[in-house]
Amino acid sequence: MTDPATTPAPAAPQGDPSLLLRALEPDHRFRCDACGNVTRFDVTVTATTRRFHHFDLGGDSRVEEEEVLEQTVRSVVCRWCGREDAITVEPAPVAGT
Ligand SMILES: [Zn+2]
Repeated sequence: MTDPATTPAPAAPQGDPSLLLRALEPDHRFRCDACGNVTRFDVTVTATTRRFHHFDLGGDSRVEEEEVLEQTVRSVVCRWCGREDAITVEPAPVAGT
């Protein structure tokens, strides 16, 4: 039985790709438990996307729309201390408070 209200620390997300993905949403963030960094990470993501390529008659193209169909976070590394095994995901503080 795990009650989120009484769990002292977020679960280590390594091995739980869906939790790592959640940190990419605006209401969550990564935290490095080793050094306290919450702002700078190297995030390796594998993504399947659908792009609208707009070609000109010469064959050059540019991407005008891109939709992410599926993505998986492969690794998250702290830019400050280089740790990969100390990254957790936590709710982001509410902006403006
Ligand atoms: Zn760190």
